[in-house]
Amino acid sequence: MSTTLEATKDTSPLAKLISDCEELIRDTSLSTVQAWKERTGGIAIGFMPTYIPRELLHAQGVLPVGIMGAGDIEIIRGDAYYQSYICHIPRSTIELGLNGSLDCLDGMVFPAICDVIRNLSGMWKMMFPTKLVHYLDVPQDFHAEMGGEFYRHDLEALSAKLVEAGAKPLTSEALAESIRLYNENGRRVRALYDLRRREPWRVPTAELYVILRAGLILPVEEHSIMLDRFLELVQAEDDRTPMDQARVILTGSFCEQPPLGLIKTLERAGCYIVDDDFVQVSRWFKHDISEEGDPLGALVDAFLTDAFASPTRYIDEDEKGRELVERVQSSGAEGVLFCAPSFCDPALLDQPMETAAVTRAGIPWTAFKFSEDTGQFQVIREQAGTFADSIKLWS
Ligand code: SF4
Repeated sequence: MSTTLEATKDTSPLAKLISDCEELIRDTSLSTVQAWKERTGGIAIGFMPTYIPRELLHAQGVLPVGIMGAGDIEIIRGDAYYQSYICHIPRSTIELGLNGSLDCLDGMVFPAICDVIRNLSGMWKMMFPTKLVHYLDVPQDFHAEMGGEFYRHDLEALSAKLVEAGAKPLTSEALAESIRLYNENGRRVRALYDLRRREPWRVPTAELYVILRAGLILPVEEHSIMLDRFLELVQAEDDRTPMDQARVILTGSFCEQPPLGLIKTLERAGCYIVDDDFVQVSRWFKHDISEEGDPLGALVDAFLTDAFASPTRYIDEDEKGRELVERVQSSGAEGVLFCAPSFCDPALLDQPMETAAVTRAGIPWTAFKFSEDTGQFQVIREQAGTFADSIKLWS
């Protein structure tokens, strides 16, 4: 006998796809990754937000696996490694490491994003001495002869470590093919972001988000097929019609990610999120990486010249917040939600400069903080709802 709940459950192909993705990202034991390893004989390397050159790993037969914290799992040992006044993601990552969830990973790459991640990479070396640990010290100088040379050496060092861990040696042919596959994937992601900017009711951010998160676990070839399927399904949804919601950009969540329930709460509170900085590795570059010439040089050049403005990248003569204002203008957003993890230095140190820039541009904004294990959304719901209402009534 079916219950009322079962009777009303959405069993459409789109709902099934989204629920499969949610299950995938809730599986902190990474059973999909383990299955991939058994099927292919390859190695899998975890990485922390925000960006690593996944193309290089893929070219060496490695599955790059994005680790973006553990949501609301109970932290038992992770808290012992950090003081209370830092963000949550390093504690939950340590918890995953110590409870065996990440055992199927053959190593971890920690990109230079902040001191917390730098310290985490040192701890990881001590905790897991038999595994590959690489601190990817990305350049903060964007001249080819300086930052470019530095970054190229770092990529070569990473590539050599991958070989020691059991990966294939890097070849130009394989890297060129991997760049092509990730370009295809990036184009699909950008197309979905474009569609959401135009018709946000058609692509709810809570759905787009879980689709992107799935791409941190699945091989890129499979994820591109999933993106095509998602696009096809959302375009076929006839009952999704525009509502009188405020169009907002959400910023500040480039590393630790908010709980999925928080994203849904913002949408239900009357906000159409038309741009965000979730899962940034999937669209770190604004355009395709060049498929011409030396592929390693193309990876380096893209990093120097075509990456998103991010609090984790040094800005020299440019103005902090300028790109955010441009994104608001080009997306037709009516306001900005500054949504940063509690105690996130890069996000919260940039926030005063960014709020000043959007204020100068006459753009309404509001700010709140979260933790990946935040369980109560009522206060944020009221704040976001009031913000959306004020935009619709008075902007
Ligand atoms: S959430 Fe912020 S402070 Fe914490 S590890 Fe990420 S970038 Fe660093």
